[in-house]
Amino acid sequence: MPKDEFKTPDLRVYGENPALEPDSMGHSSPYKALPEHQESLGFPGELVDGWHDKAIDKMGDLLSKNRALKVYLDSCVKCGACTDKCHYYLGTGDPKNMPVARQDLLRQVYRRHFTLPGKLFPGLVGAKDLSEEVLEDWYTYFHQCSQCRRCSVFCPYGIDTAEISMAAREIMDHIGIGQKYCNEIIAKVHQIGNNLGLPEAALIDTLEGLEEDVEEETGVAVRFPVNEEGADVLLVTPSADFFAEPHVDGLIGYAKVFHQAGISWTVSSYASEAANFALFTGSYEHMHKISSRIRKAAQELGVKRIIFGECGHAWRVAYSFLNTLAGPWDFLDPAYPTPQHICEVTLDLIERGAINLDPSANDDKVLTFHDSCNVARASRMGDTPGGQFHIPRAVIKAAVNKFVDMAPDTIHEKTFCCGGGGGLLTDDLTELRVKGALPRMEALQDVVDTHGVTHMAAICAICKSQFTKVMPYYGFSMDMVVSIHQLVSEAILLGTKE
Ligand code: SF4
Ligand code: SF4
Repeated sequence: MPKDEFKTPDLRVYGENPALEPDSMGHSSPYKALPEHQESLGFPGELVDGWHDKAIDKMGDLLSKNRALKVYLDSCVKCGACTDKCHYYLGTGDPKNMPVARQDLLRQVYRRHFTLPGKLFPGLVGAKDLSEEVLEDWYTYFHQCSQCRRCSVFCPYGIDTAEISMAAREIMDHIGIGQKYCNEIIAKVHQIGNNLGLPEAALIDTLEGLEEDVEEETGVAVRFPVNEEGADVLLVTPSADFFAEPHVDGLIGYAKVFHQAGISWTVSSYASEAANFALFTGSYEHMHKISSRIRKAAQELGVKRIIFGECGHAWRVAYSFLNTLAGPWDFLDPAYPTPQHICEVTLDLIERGAINLDPSANDDKVLTFHDSCNVARASRMGDTPGGQFHIPRAVIKAAVNKFVDMAPDTIHEKTFCCGGGGGLLTDDLTELRVKGALPRMEALQDVVDTHGVTHMAAICAICKSQFTKVMPYYGFSMDMVVSIHQLVSEAILLGTKE
């Protein structure tokens, strides 16, 4: 059990509310970005003179461009339906982590400056100016929102706290107080092409090593190509897939699937990252710049299809925004005009008999599945063919014999965030991450107790990294976490197609 300054919450019966602990997380805010990273992204290196007016101007600018933001700020009726739906509130008891309270941090300033009652009678309508104290709360509590959008599922008006959190972070970047973790990563992608700062030579070396490992283990020459012009598929995957456990086992699974189905593929050293952390900071400009690298790589390599690996928010960007950000993708094969998710591709190949799996290869495991927020809530929902609740489960069920879902109010669109999404997967937020994982850990404990579950599959690099870090705090082994394509990798019959 790791030693830390804070107490890991006790697993409660799921659905029980925490005792209120006002300001209990007021001390938890991430490191601020270094001036050089801020400046390399076009933001001020430190809090600017006249920051108050600049922040209000930026808010006005966002409100004029984003109608939804204004609607979200205007339409809350304080019904309370969202209050106990956030994992950070459930794990910390801090009332400022109730979604409605988080929204109100921005809403009170919006009312003060952009509504008539707020200008005339601020005290009567809960309007407040942007003081240093309020700005401090913004930095703290908008970095205690993983932008998972669970609360919006329960809000009768569909108010999306993630959009409000993104707007607040964008305003803060604009006045010179960005978050270190996200902004460093965005700068690295612009400079090198991936979150980890892995240069081309290291990438090639790593993939050659994987080729050798897989051939040694299976006797089959499965390729891991880099920068291969004329390949059919450009694989864009989170850079964690290149070496970290359990991610890399997923990458091996993708390679075996492509090999067995006879699909030629490549990764690009120029666009060697599926993640797009600019989504978390709300910066359209940087989302566009990162996405454009994928377009450029696809065009230069002459691929016909783009397939995204197991990454939650990357898939949200690909599914919801890529066309606007970097389209049109008219140079791709008309049969595959938009990017595909690796799970869709694998399921299609299984259903067509283009690859065969032997699920008994995973008979030492009893699986459950964690729906990643950005796949479950921000792409094609549904438990029928084509839906993102169905697709990953269908792949798992083809690869294993023993599978059980967690409780119905913790899966599909009601899934709980792992606790590390939205740009919060950083060690300076360990306490928040551990406490925010509580609801998922409770749901997991339930299926461990009732069905003997031994492993939990996930299809998001952030979820996998977060779980391997926080599960030991709750007494689970980090080895319980597996990639879906790790299960496929174990079960796939290489060299046999009947
Ligand atoms: S978006 Fe997720 S993290 Fe943010 S307030 Fe809503 S439930 Fe909490
Ligand atoms: S559920 Fe929606 S309307 Fe109700 S308090 Fe929460 S944000 Fe406001």
